Amino acid sequence: MTKSALEVISRKRDGGEHPPEEIEFLLSGYLKGDIPDYQMAAWLMAVCIRGMTRAETLALTQAMVRSGEVLDLSGIPGTKVDKHSTGGVGDKVTLIGPPLAAACGVKVPKLSGRALAHTGGTLDKLESVPGQSPHMVPADKALYALRDVTATVPSVPLIASSVMSKKIAAGADAIVLDVKFGRGAFMPDVAAAEELATEMVLLGEGAGRRTVALVTAMDNPLGRSVGNALEVQEALDALAGKGDEELLQVSLVVAREMCWLAEVETDPGDALRSGAGRAKFLEMLAAQGGHIEKGLPVAAVQLSIPALGDGYVESIDALEVGLSGLELGVGRKKKEDPVDPAAGIVIEAQVGAKVKAGEPLAVVHARTEELARSVMPRLQKAWRLRAHEVARPPHVLARVDKDGMTRAG
Ligand code: URA
Repeated sequence: MTKSALEVISRKRDGGEHPPEEIEFLLSGYLKGDIPDYQMAAWLMAVCIRGMTRAETLALTQAMVRSGEVLDLSGIPGTKVDKHSTGGVGDKVTLIGPPLAAACGVKVPKLSGRALAHTGGTLDKLESVPGQSPHMVPADKALYALRDVTATVPSVPLIASSVMSKKIAAGADAIVLDVKFGRGAFMPDVAAAEELATEMVLLGEGAGRRTVALVTAMDNPLGRSVGNALEVQEALDALAGKGDEELLQVSLVVAREMCWLAEVETDPGDALRSGAGRAKFLEMLAAQGGHIEKGLPVAAVQLSIPALGDGYVESIDALEVGLSGLELGVGRKKKEDPVDPAAGIVIEAQVGAKVKAGEPLAVVHARTEELARSVMPRLQKAWRLRAHEVARPPHVLARVDKDGMTRAG
């Protein structure tokens, strides 16, 4: 049996494997307050560097599920399908795809997280609508906040257990995962995202939940806006059919997978065209106590970011845009920091657009002029221009389910 947190941390530091009871000891000790933040942070860093075996990841996921309430949704008829993204910049697909699937008749239970590092969080986005939100899986809540500020997010076992503990505890029968890779995501490349996708599909299927993972690109921000209220507004616009093409494409792919898992034959494209998806999103907001009719918060300052030269936009570095958002208060630098619901960035020149020097690349929404100006150089560097026309790159690259992986194209 484990003697001390120090011993457990040292085992992982030295590349050893934890028996399940050590993981339980660490997690429950942390939640009770017996193990302090600094020891937990040291262990998280050891996991980031050393990794975990599949058995350890499973034990961590199960311990996290046990840390809180587990919903039993069996009283609700039909297949319940949840959706989760591993996080990206401007990723508001959760606000669009699931309402579209719900409008087609899919039952959608949804447990979401807050912003993590430079990526946005659905909870923070939804809290920009006046109202409140529920709490579950306390171990994930505590670890998430600690990982966010100790550079211990990008780890396959930590992400897989964080995502899947929430999905399993939320009680859905089936799960659609959006696993992102690239500059704005936690997984650097498509191979790492495929590994994470496979790991999560195994955890989900192992827990008796049908699980599908899509591997999608996150080199450029998704859609036009980055920021909590700004993304809620963009989701509302997209559901009214006025969305960025790529954002709508990935949202529809997600919604179609949700319908497929629930054996619902209605096409989410119809729910988009008829406005039923938008009506469902408004209904969901109201049911959570949100008051969209009170309006979304608007930043005091809106500053245009001019292009430094002429050309076609080849890429927009999602990490730099995400980090600029973090500076503006879209996410947290320290665990206890509040987020600014109105802050963010609206992209004016998307990948493929032609721009001339002085024309706007983006508009920064900030509390003060000084703060808005402080991110200008970083944002100007994020836009890469070239002389020739540019096509937007493909977005959905692979799909993983219990039968294996299919690559697009
Ligand atoms: N999303 C989560 O819920 N957890 C992570 O660790 C990363 C993305």
